[in-house]
Amino acid sequence: MEEHVPLARLTTIGTGGPARWFARPETMDELESVLRWADENGAPVQVVGLGSNLLVHDDGVDALVLKLAGELASVRADGEVLVAGGGAANAVSLHRARAAGLGGFEFASAIPGTAGGGVRMNAGAYGREWRDVMIDAVVVDAHGARTLGPDELGLSYRHSNLEPGQVVAQVRFRLVPTLPETVKARAAELLAQRKATQPTNKRTFGSVFKNPGGGPGAGRMIEDCGLKGHRLGGALISPRHANFIENAGDATSADCLALMAEARRRVQERFAVELEHEVQFLGPLRLPA
Ligand SMILES: Cc1cc2nc3c(=O)[nH]c(=O)nc-3n(C[C@H](O)[C@H](O)[C@H](O)COP(=O)(O)OP(=O)(O)OC[C@H]3O[C@@H](n4cnc5c(N)ncnc54)[C@H](O)[C@@H]3O)c2cc1C
Repeated sequence: MEEHVPLARLTTIGTGGPARWFARPETMDELESVLRWADENGAPVQVVGLGSNLLVHDDGVDALVLKLAGELASVRADGEVLVAGGGAANAVSLHRARAAGLGGFEFASAIPGTAGGGVRMNAGAYGREWRDVMIDAVVVDAHGARTLGPDELGLSYRHSNLEPGQVVAQVRFRLVPTLPETVKARAAELLAQRKATQPTNKRTFGSVFKNPGGGPGAGRMIEDCGLKGHRLGGALISPRHANFIENAGDATSADCLALMAEARRRVQERFAVELEHEVQFLGPLRLPA
């Protein structure tokens, strides 16, 4: 167990303070043991995947923060099932799937997160999401491990009913036999589409807000408020896609939050729509009501 570990380097936006306690469990036994420690010491538990949808408070997080590693971040194919540790990067899962001649996970190749982060967020792109390909997930907390399916996890648009302290240790995906070159070509095509529309070469945390159903997307509304390129401190509304915030070099999480609050206020005024944030907060961060 380490103390006061900086989290900024564990997030894609590159902001935020330290974790009070930090551990990298590599096996189920190690995970259960750190969760027991947290329970006995009254420490709240949080998990970081690849930090690709995370904003961490600048003063840090008064919790035990876990980053799954080793076995809990590895991937193997078992027939047509891909078994991924909760901490496995999607890029690694896609690589293993391709090598095993399995398709169906290509949509996730450009989502720069992990199998477990994908469950928490029901991540998705190009009309497919985790719940479409997931069989089940092993969820561990201080009371032990349970295997839960997509319905039990309440997976819907960028939502699950997982609570802080519940750790996704393993995910099983049902894929379909596909030629490796077909998998490679599909993934490359989707990646090219993404590079054409999103700031993939900047430090961001992905979509800032969820798209409200039925009307224009969050990015379109923020753009129509004239906010593309708007800067507060070191944080910038992406000139490429208005539902992304870029770290322009020296951003703090407070800068990002202030920019989010401004975008939300302007969209509310102009469209009478209350945007809900997609990015997850670690530490006492809150948008004004
Ligand atoms: C350039 C870019 C493009 C993106 N495009 C997309 C997209 O197309 N579609 C999409 O859905 N998202 C997208 N994202 C957002 C992000 O990649 C996804 O939400 C991803 O699933 C988050 O995974 P992560 O492992 O990085 O989770 P983190 O960002 O580290 O964490 C996100 C949440 O999941 C929780 N969590 C992480 N791991 C676990 C675990 N093992 N057990 C329990 N809880 C866990 C965290 O506590 C936190 O609440 C994008 C992000 C970037 C930077």
